[in-house]
Order: sequence, then C-alpha cells, then structure tokens
Amino acid sequence: MMTTISTRLAVLGSGPAGLTAAIYAARAGLSPIVIQGIQPGGQLTTTTDVENYPGFRDVIQGPWLMEEMQAQAEHVGTKMVWDHISSVDLSRRPFVLKGDNGTEYHADTLVIATGAQAKWLGLPSEEHMKGRGASACATCDGFFYRGKKVAVIGGGNTAVEEALYLTNHSHDVTLIHRRDSFRAEKILQDRLFANDKIKVIWDSEVVEFVGGGDPEALVGLDIRNRRTGGISRVDCDGAFVAIGHAPSTELFADQLELDEDGYIKVEVGTTKTNIPGVFACGDVMDKIYRQAVTAAGTGCMAALDAEKFLAAEEYQALAAE
Ligand code: NDP
Repeated sequence: MMTTISTRLAVLGSGPAGLTAAIYAARAGLSPIVIQGIQPGGQLTTTTDVENYPGFRDVIQGPWLMEEMQAQAEHVGTKMVWDHISSVDLSRRPFVLKGDNGTEYHADTLVIATGAQAKWLGLPSEEHMKGRGASACATCDGFFYRGKKVAVIGGGNTAVEEALYLTNHSHDVTLIHRRDSFRAEKILQDRLFANDKIKVIWDSEVVEFVGGGDPEALVGLDIRNRRTGGISRVDCDGAFVAIGHAPSTELFADQLELDEDGYIKVEVGTTKTNIPGVFACGDVMDKIYRQAVTAAGTGCMAALDAEKFLAAEEYQALAAE
C-alpha cells in the first residue's frame, strides 16, 4: 500500500547544505523532513581529514562531522527518511516526490541539496577497473596504495590536492594532464612542483586502463601525447581520476532552469529557483566554491528563503479572508 507523507518543507539530500537547511527550518518550526538519498551525508563521508571547517582547532573527520550535523538536525526536530527519490512533479503544489520504497512525499516547499558527483573519463577499461585500481577519491582509497605507484588524472585544484595527498602513502606519484598548464591555484602548484615524489606528464590523455594478474588489478595507464600522437605506458597500481564534478540534477532536468553545465540556476544572492517554493543550495547550484562551509551557508539561506516564502503565503491567505 502506498504511504503518503506531507510536510511543509522537504529537503532532498543530506550533505552539509541539506542538513543545515534542516537545522534552520526545524528551529523555525517547519518540521522538515530530510530525504537522505543514495549517499547519506554526501561527499564529506568519503573524505578523511577536514581542517578548514570553522570551529574545530584540531583536524576532524568528514564522516564524524556529518554524523554530528545529522544528530543536530534530528535534535532540533528534523525527521530523517532513508529513501531514494525516483521522480518529482514540480508542476503543482504541494510538490510530489516519489520514493523507491513506495512512499509519496507531498511538500509545500522543497529544498534541493542533491550535491554533485565525481566525473569519470568514460572509457570502458576505466569502468572495468573500478574497484581494481581505478578510483575517483584519493582520500578514500589512497591508503590502499601504501608504498605503491599511483597516477592522478586532471589539472585543477582537486587533481593537485589529490597528488599531494597521495605522497603521504606513495613515493611515486604521476600527475597526467591534458594541457601544458594547470588551472589549480598557484599555491597548490608551488607545493606540487616542490615535491620530489610527484612527476607531471603534460599534454597527455589516458586512452586505456590496463589490468593484469590474477585476481586482475591495475598495472598501468596507456596515455596518448596530444602533440605527437605517441602512445606510452605509465606503470601504476592505482589511478585517481580528478577531472571535476557533475551536479546531481537529472531528476529536475526538464522542470527547473539549469545552466550550461547542468547546475540549478538561482536568483542572484538567493537560493530561489525559477519555480516559486523550490530552493537550491550547496554543490548542486554552486560550481565555484564547493566547500562544506559554503554549502552549509547556502543551506541556511535556503531555509530562510523557504520560511519567508511560506510566511508571505500565509499572510496573503489571511489578508484575502
Ligand atoms: P576543475 O573543473 O577545476 O578541473 C578539472 C580538471 O580536469 C581540469 O584541469 C581539466 O582540464 C581536467 N579535465 C576535465 N575533463 C577532462 C577529461 N575528460 N580528460 C582529462 N582531463 C579533464 O575541477 P576540480 O574538481 O579540480 O575543482 C572544482 C572546483 O572546486 C574548483 O572551483 C576548485 O577551485 C574547487 N576546489 C577547491 C579546493 C580548495 O579550495 N582547496 C579543492 C578542490 C576543489 P583543463 O584544465 O584542460 O580544462
């Protein structure tokens, strides 16, 4: 039998943006529900050390921070729901969200905090080697390559940070970039070039993840030099793809205005989307800052925007009586 849950505010996603929205909405008396999604806690649950989230003098752990945020949200009155939403109807209010477990959620307002996912190169051999040496998260999987050779693919902040991080585990890190200059911040580049455990291969793209042995594991990457066309092999036991992220917006693609990269468009200085009553916060609408603290900040904004929206509606309804 289908269950229906009605709420004044539903939050979709449970990273720093979604949980902060929930904390503010709960404290405003909106009794929000948070639908956790497929990665409860969001990207921080795949991070280890966090040392740039304010309020903590010592290094904290990403999963611990998310547990604390969730406990805080629950403590102030948020209801957590473990479900995955398979479709949404934003064409009328209350908005209707259908969950995989057969539940239908009816929400007067919706805060979308579905975040972003790491991008992959899209090679069949990459897909085949996932879990056998191909990874998109050095902080999650770097430990497995202690004392081994690793490669990182990309040229932005993430790639450079991951290469630097991997030197904690490996003395032989190769960074492969498709151009002849990085887009990473200068301070990170300076650290990278000063680190003799890292070598950089420029102007090159990966064409094949090469496996070997029994059980099969990654043994190397075949790369093509984009200037000469020459193919060569980089021996490595682990390869970390760090070429950016894609926002999780498939559910809303035909209903909300998205930018050219698929991020939800919001009115400048707010979290308002093109549909009144639908708000977006965190990495799903922010491709620039992408930090836990900025996600939390926009989560707070979304709850305040939703609260104001509902209050204005109530005022109009009263005035019309
Ligand atoms: P970016 O989009 O900044 O960089 C992606 C990199 O991957 C680029 O160098 C790009 O190459 C390369 N790339 C993209 N697609 C491919 C492909 N198909 N094949 C090979 N290479 C590819 O992503 P990041 O994840 O590095 O960073 C995203 C945002 O998060 C940025 O704003 C960044 O500043 C921020 N960030 C901040 C951090 C911090 O403040 N400490 C840490 C990590 C991220 P090309 O340069 O040729 O386009």
